[in-house]
Amino acid sequence: MSEIKTIATLASHSALQILKGAKEEGFETIAICLRRRLGVYERFRHFIDRIIVVDDFKEIVNKDIQKELFEMRAILIPHGSFVEYLGIENIERIEVPIFGNKKLMIWEHDAWRKLELLEKSGIRTPKLFRKIDEVDRPVIVKFHGAKGGRGYFVARNSEELRNKLAEKGLDASQLIIQEYIFGTPMYFHYFYSPILKRLELLGADIRYESEVDGIKRYPYPVEDYTFTVVGNIPLVLRESLLEQVFDYGEKFVVATRNLIPPGVIGPFCLEAICKSNLEIVVFEFSGRIVAGTNLYVRGSPYSWLYFNEPMSTGRRIAREIKLAIEKNALNKIIVG
Ligand code: AMP
Repeated sequence: MSEIKTIATLASHSALQILKGAKEEGFETIAICLRRRLGVYERFRHFIDRIIVVDDFKEIVNKDIQKELFEMRAILIPHGSFVEYLGIENIERIEVPIFGNKKLMIWEHDAWRKLELLEKSGIRTPKLFRKIDEVDRPVIVKFHGAKGGRGYFVARNSEELRNKLAEKGLDASQLIIQEYIFGTPMYFHYFYSPILKRLELLGADIRYESEVDGIKRYPYPVEDYTFTVVGNIPLVLRESLLEQVFDYGEKFVVATRNLIPPGVIGPFCLEAICKSNLEIVVFEFSGRIVAGTNLYVRGSPYSWLYFNEPMSTGRRIAREIKLAIEKNALNKIIVG
């Protein structure tokens, strides 16, 4: 394993950033690309050395592709589309080294276990309601495995919730009913380095969501709206919030270490609402690189505080792999 010389990823989500960063750190690069998306990735051959064309990402488990990746001495970098497109069963079948803690990827697949991890970490989270009758405040209703907020809706009380569920033909036991937090959304991009044994804050963003972020353009009250993510907007935090942000990040690192040893490796994101009293409430996490980091392909105001060079999250991953190779410690960044 100490022979890694290539960084490979699925051509989607944050692949351009990952592969550009890999090249900057001196690695060979491979994009595993859907035939219909070749038109995009072919444009970036100056930092993508090899494109493996597939009709379905699941082909990655095929023997010939695995063999090629082994021959190229590749490590695979997971991102948001990784579990979604491959499915947990296929990830288990991949023999090529995968960056990070595979057990966290599997854990992340279960919405209830995710919420449990957040609760156990001691980070402030929204109250969860298992039964409609218990609802005593405004709530947001989410679907398991919902992609980018699609289909979420809000209700002001238990009666309204009951009516909306009946109207939509939904069963409460299949849904996540969470306290609605009033404030502004914020997404914090962290990186935990097992090699340097430190937690870094690499950036922050806001998701631009349709329709909720467009409502102010319509001069009449709107009853129902959606939260579909369509883009990301950069964010710099009020500096006095940093104490809470670092505290939450550290708590997350400790909780994953206890529940899913050796814990989170590399990038992760806490997804939160900041209330007007400046309390941050975390409603979700991602245990890998998030698409919001694509904003900072040349680094962010925070990454600049650690590195005197442009450092995207993609490049930071490659840097960690390089450090692990140098220290003969790849077992610290490839687990499971
Ligand atoms: P998610 O898919 O969990 O990232 O959520 C999508 C969007 O729903 C977020 O960006 C927020 O705008 C909103 N949201 C999710 N959970 C809550 C909550 N508990 N309170 C208020 N807004 C929320």
